Formats: sequence, structure tokens, C-alpha cells
Amino acid sequence: MNKMLSDETIYKKILKSIVEHQLPPGARLPEDKLSEAFGRSRTSIRKVLQRLALERIVTIEPNKGAHVNRPSEQEAQEILDSRIMLEPLLIPEIMKYWSKANSKYFRAMLKEEKQAEANEDQAALIQLTAQFHYELAALSDNSVMADFIQQLCYRSSLIIAVFGSRHSVSCDCGDHLELIELMDNEQNKQAQDWMKQHLIHIKSSLKLGVSDGQKINFQQLFANSE
Ligand SMILES: [Zn+2]
Repeated sequence: MNKMLSDETIYKKILKSIVEHQLPPGARLPEDKLSEAFGRSRTSIRKVLQRLALERIVTIEPNKGAHVNRPSEQEAQEILDSRIMLEPLLIPEIMKYWSKANSKYFRAMLKEEKQAEANEDQAALIQLTAQFHYELAALSDNSVMADFIQQLCYRSSLIIAVFGSRHSVSCDCGDHLELIELMDNEQNKQAQDWMKQHLIHIKSSLKLGVSDGQKINFQQLFANSE
């Protein structure tokens, strides 16, 4: 029934299920069951799980296998606090390199965000909003900082998936377009303030403390894998 799925497709399907809570935090991700469900070898599944582990979406422990990461409330707060501290600081660095081409590129990305929002595709929206932040950070001339922000964004994606509401990624926390416009107008200070307030809003939209623990039927969950 399953055609050969690419690693990328399997990655996206598992990520989507995690973000949409069909695979809740702490859920076990057994290689054999996933291998059956996707009709792919355990080696392929392991590769996908390792990629998710690198992004801190999944944890892999010896003898325990892979599980959906379960960020603690404290970890959630610390990650958002780190972003609140760092991302506004990078704005002046980004502004040094900000060009018309950059503006056009990020505006196009916002169109995709709007589309995902219109489709109520929460998984895509979480991915796209994280991508907006880390690609912006990558414009600064500091690759160490850019990598660090990227890691924080990946970890935030899981936190928003676990603790967030729809408000965590929607316009309620401020439209990314406002930031692009401030940067186009070289309003350095306002752009920094905007970023800080934006991240503070995201932090306050999190609902810390959720329950989980149901049994998962992987065959059924991924039955419609085309
Ligand atoms: Zn944002």
C-alpha cells in the first residue's frame, strides 16, 4: 500500500504528528513499529529519528530508544528567556546587511505563513515561524550566534507544540510584516523593541502544564501515508 516514502516525507509526517499532539511529549517512537507503518527499513527510520534528535524534538537514549522530547516548564521558560535576551541584540547586526533582496525574500516567506494560517495548518505554521526567526538571525555576520538561535528556534517549536495555543503562532503575538517594515525603514531601535515584545508575547501565550499518556497505534496513525 505504501509507495517508497523518502526520508524527508517520513521526517515531515513524524514532525507533524508531534506538533499536532498525535504523538504527545514522552511518547515512545519504536523503530520496528515505525518501520512497519512506513514500509521502510529500520536504518531509514533511525536516520530520521537522529535528525529529529539533533533538532531536540526527539531524545535517543541507549537501551531506551527514541521518545518525543518532553520539555519541562522550566526548560520552556529558559528557552524563551534566552530568545528574549538574544534576538533583539542581533537586530543591529542584521540591519547592517539588510537589503531590498532580503526584504523581498522575507516578505515571500510571510505569504507562506499566511497561507498556512488560512489552512489552519498548525504544524506548517510552527515550522515557518521558526524558520523566519533563524533565517533572520543568519543574516548577522556571526555564524556561532546564528547556529545557537537556530537551535533555540527548533526547541521553541517543540515547546510551542507542547505548551502553545493557536495564539502562540498567530497574529496575536504581532505580525512579522511589522518587523520587516521597521527594518525597511531603518528603524533600528523600534525593530529591537518589536522583537523583544513579540517574544515576550509568545512566552506569555504558553500554557504550562499539560497531560499525556495514551497508547499509540502507529499503523493507524500513518495508515494514509501516500
Ligand atoms: Zn515570530
